[in-house]
Amino acid sequence: MEHHSGGSGTNKNKQMVEQLQRYGVISSKKVVEVMETIDRALFVPDGTPAYVDSPMAIGYNATISAPHMHATCLQLLEENLQPGMHALDVGSGTGYLTACFATMVGPQGRAIGVEHIPELVAASIKNIEKSAAASLLKGGSLSVHAGDGREGWPEHAPYDAIHVGAAAPEIPQPLIDQLKPGGRMVIPVGKIFQDLQVVDKNLDGSVSIRNETAVRYVPLTSRDAQLKGY
Ligand code: SAH
Repeated sequence: MEHHSGGSGTNKNKQMVEQLQRYGVISSKKVVEVMETIDRALFVPDGTPAYVDSPMAIGYNATISAPHMHATCLQLLEENLQPGMHALDVGSGTGYLTACFATMVGPQGRAIGVEHIPELVAASIKNIEKSAAASLLKGGSLSVHAGDGREGWPEHAPYDAIHVGAAAPEIPQPLIDQLKPGGRMVIPVGKIFQDLQVVDKNLDGSVSIRNETAVRYVPLTSRDAQLKGY
């Protein structure tokens, strides 16, 4: 579907990726490739500017993250998104990053999205069906589920990569438990002031945590709290 006049959508998507490279946000070739492959316009609501570097409302008090945040998280997780690996996207929202993860881990890998608003799960599946990741959804290596992402998704654990798209007051233990030794989780932590934390599980099972950057995400919370406006 064409969402914008004045040039093809995929061309504008490419320009957005080029701009993120010029600004130094993306340095990885694989991240360029996947962001060129998955057209962001297919994931934003109709009438929403798709390629502007800002978060956008998607309903239900949720937002699609800004392109530079998607790029940053993809880059931090790149080594843990190699073909055949398992990735979990908590608070998968529009499904954009889940589709990127699935494309990177490929048909031999597994990409799971967990989102607690069933309407967003349904919409995200429709978005993915229109995207270059559609065949992965059909083939079963990509799936999106309704559920409380604070519990992770034990069925396909342990994960090489876990991304959390909403800010947790503290890191949920089930997510640490479901991270593979050698695996990496990227999660915003905090209430109003949040840090994007990089959690690496070492081969002996211990975890190392560092702060990457200050961020502002919607909270990782209960569905009721979210629908009431927190
Ligand atoms: N990465 C997504 C981000 C969406 S915003 C995107 O860019 O499209 C964060 C999402 O987390 C929202 O869709 C919200 O509904 C969801 N969320 C918040 N708390 C959650 C929880 N406990 N379990 C699952 N999803 C949750």
